[in-house]
Amino acid sequence: MLKNKKEELRVRIAPSPTGYLHVGTARIALFNYLFAKNQGGKFILRIEDTDLERSDEKFTKEIIESLHWLGINYDEGPDVGGDFGPYRQSERLKTYKKYLQQLLDENKAYYCFCTEEELEVERQAQTKRGEPPIYSGRCANLNAEQIKKSHDEGKKSIIRFRMPNIKIIFEDMIKGVLEFETRLIGDITIAKNLETPLYNFAVVIDDETMKISHVIRGEDHISNTPKQIAMIEALEFKKPKYAHLPLTLAPDKTKLSKRHGATAIADYRAMGYLPEALINFMAFMGWNPKTDQEFFTKEELVKIFSMANINKAAAIFNIEKLNWLNGHYIRQMDLSSLTEKCIPYLENANLINGVGAGEWNIMKTDEAINLDQLKKIIALEQERLVKLDDLPELVSFFLKKELTFDKDLLLWKKMTAAETAEHLSEVEKLLANIDKKNFTKENLEKEIKKLIEKDKLGVGETLWPLRVALTGLKASPPPFEVAEILGKEKTLQRILAAKDLLA
Ligand code: GLU
Repeated sequence: MLKNKKEELRVRIAPSPTGYLHVGTARIALFNYLFAKNQGGKFILRIEDTDLERSDEKFTKEIIESLHWLGINYDEGPDVGGDFGPYRQSERLKTYKKYLQQLLDENKAYYCFCTEEELEVERQAQTKRGEPPIYSGRCANLNAEQIKKSHDEGKKSIIRFRMPNIKIIFEDMIKGVLEFETRLIGDITIAKNLETPLYNFAVVIDDETMKISHVIRGEDHISNTPKQIAMIEALEFKKPKYAHLPLTLAPDKTKLSKRHGATAIADYRAMGYLPEALINFMAFMGWNPKTDQEFFTKEELVKIFSMANINKAAAIFNIEKLNWLNGHYIRQMDLSSLTEKCIPYLENANLINGVGAGEWNIMKTDEAINLDQLKKIIALEQERLVKLDDLPELVSFFLKKELTFDKDLLLWKKMTAAETAEHLSEVEKLLANIDKKNFTKENLEKEIKKLIEKDKLGVGETLWPLRVALTGLKASPPPFEVAEILGKEKTLQRILAAKDLLA
């Protein structure tokens, strides 16, 4: 006896390449991915580029790149292939045409010749009567002759699906049982012509021909689902299971958009967020592992992911949470990898310029810096770094020939300029007598603190102006660390420059 092969679990995301990969879409991709991997199924990327005017190949490329960068890897897709391709809708037109023709032949779809103006008049009248704007069905019963005549006259047409008057009920994995009356939907447009299908129709054909078992998407698509189910039934396709995820909202509970900050994964990448942080962050938007564990690897997420733990309420995008996670993953990185990731940011900020062989020119100076020195600088900031593009500003004082800052910044509390200059002179004398090889943070700290105690200089009164002299900043790492990295010569130069400023 033939044993029924268990049906494979297959899910997909189907972004339209009309913009960069939105963090909300990436989150839906992640949930699809986690669900598929948790269940031993397949995750598919399909590019919905039937809207040729709004679609752009550059966005397709970017979506693919962002997904790979995040590590949300799909088993089938435009760049990786698969048995159910092509995976771009623009390359599947023949398939759509076949099913459009079938629907027309079976009288389940029809040509509509109503003009935009006519439809608008109809809609306005309906709105006035307090009725939902539903197509009147004026072209629903044209005979073959009338249709031919209109075509021959070159009248513009579209193809409408003949919506049966039924109740559509389905069980959503997140929302529970949902019910829709199709009479409130009417005969929807499914194609501009045989070569130009529209979203709701193309999705139905693709999900069937790609053997999608579960459609997991944003709840903004709920109203499309009954339309799609009606077509699935008309075509006698297999109905997938549905899960409509709550959307990602901004803290003000409105749709997350540019005015709230970056929305594209590419932007987060450029700002120096790490994929590990984004994965963790997105996973927790609207999903809850029901444990106290705060950090998860992708593999751990796969293991414990469950649809049952998805919240019904909208997920709120909380940038502080992302920053906190990113800082955590930056601190976890080993220094070599972190340095490697940081160097492009320093180069882009025109602070250094690679000359090969682990050497960089420090821009606008005649000095060079090597990998070990860069590592020391980055090590100093690793603890407090939130995202990689914050680094140039934090470390630029190391890489400048001269610092510019307000002289008042050198003054600790009630100290006068003269007193401050005096303290700096004391430190300068001390440092001038320390050999280069003993110019280490430990030794500098020991010697300077000894001096402060011996001459009763006061800690703040000495270390504050010293630190400002070396960094030009209100907040920075401690002066001993900075001095070690700057080296004896530069440290003394900067102390002198600060004294000049005070004079
Ligand atoms: N192209 C649709 C979108 O980007 C896909 C929706 C779906 O998953 O069916 O929202």
